[in-house]
Amino acid sequence: KPQLANRVQTLTPSTTLAITAKAKELKEQGIDVIGLGAGEPDYNTPQNILDAALKSMNEGHTKYTPAGGLPALKKAIIDKLERDQQITYQASEILIGIGAKHVLYTLFQVLLNENDEVIIPIPYWVSYPEQVKLAGGVPVYIEGTAEQQYKITAKQIKEAITDKTRAIILNSPSNPTGMLYTKNELQEIADVCKEANIWIVSDEIYEKLIYGDAQHISIAQLSDDAKERTIIINGVSKSHSMTGWRIGYAAGNKELITAMTDLASHSTSNPVTTSQYAAIEAYNGPQDTVEEMRAAFESRLEIIFPKLASIPGFKVLKPQGAFYLLPDVSEAAKNTGYDSVDAFVEALLTEANVAVIPGSGFGAPSTIRLSYATSLDLLEAAVARIDTFVRSKW
Ligand code: PLP
Repeated sequence: KPQLANRVQTLTPSTTLAITAKAKELKEQGIDVIGLGAGEPDYNTPQNILDAALKSMNEGHTKYTPAGGLPALKKAIIDKLERDQQITYQASEILIGIGAKHVLYTLFQVLLNENDEVIIPIPYWVSYPEQVKLAGGVPVYIEGTAEQQYKITAKQIKEAITDKTRAIILNSPSNPTGMLYTKNELQEIADVCKEANIWIVSDEIYEKLIYGDAQHISIAQLSDDAKERTIIINGVSKSHSMTGWRIGYAAGNKELITAMTDLASHSTSNPVTTSQYAAIEAYNGPQDTVEEMRAAFESRLEIIFPKLASIPGFKVLKPQGAFYLLPDVSEAAKNTGYDSVDAFVEALLTEANVAVIPGSGFGAPSTIRLSYATSLDLLEAAVARIDTFVRSKW
């Protein structure tokens, strides 16, 4: 048995992957399992983007690029930030990396010293705590309860800040909750962060997936101070259905970006060249497919939400963004004879043949996460199966 480094001793593999593997196993045995675990849009990348990628290859753009990304892609991102957020950035304030996930990883590596604290709201995206720990940092959790729409407040942040706090992570719209912070909430958070002089890591990867009259606001938009202490994280994965291309970016303080670029120059060399050309088209080309996909997610949500909410023992808030539903199912689990939501999830998979993600992986063990990035037919069938399962055992 090899002796592994201390830093990976406590690394927990993604819960999403464990349930997905089990679902795959059942499928291979010929069982008709419906998977609602997906964290990616169920559309192919739009054709104009595919065409741009192919064209770039045919033109010979198949070599290394600058470590922080192609100048033309940085320009496209700068234009996007100006257009959508009304914030002006310089090329020296942008780093393009291998998906938003690896950009975040690089950020924590350059930001954190041993035992530095990072405030992480519960429920959280699974990778935040692991990435903070891998950089030697300590996650400090504060809970956004269902009563506060799974959002944390400025007051909670203030109480959690110590002299070791370096940063707070915000994710709006959120995976897994689908909630969005309002301008007022963000303003209060920005004020607290200014007072304590801490960084704000603003993960805006679901920015384009917003429903109803909800509005996406970046905390960096609120003031010069907020802009200076915020690192915006975003990318094309969810907005342009480009999860496999692995292009994300960070926009923020020049010194941080320089350090991240230097680290990238030794760890990745550059984000995949073809993917960068594809992303230029994603940002500079027509945006109608972005809106089409958004509208499709919204119409599925409208149909599926009331059905899910009417399952006995399911308590669910209506999401305002992203493509996840996060019902609290503790009542349903208890009344159907399971002593934990994890056990309930296991039974949903093996008996009702629906794969969902247990909320324990997001720090919210009374919930489950269902993705509606799948066809309406499958969604309706899956929710009907869950409903029948719960009612038959109640
Ligand atoms: N941030 C959040 C909240 C996510 O849900 C995801 C993907 O699941 C990412 C970041 C990573 O996105 P990317 O595919 O660009 O690495």
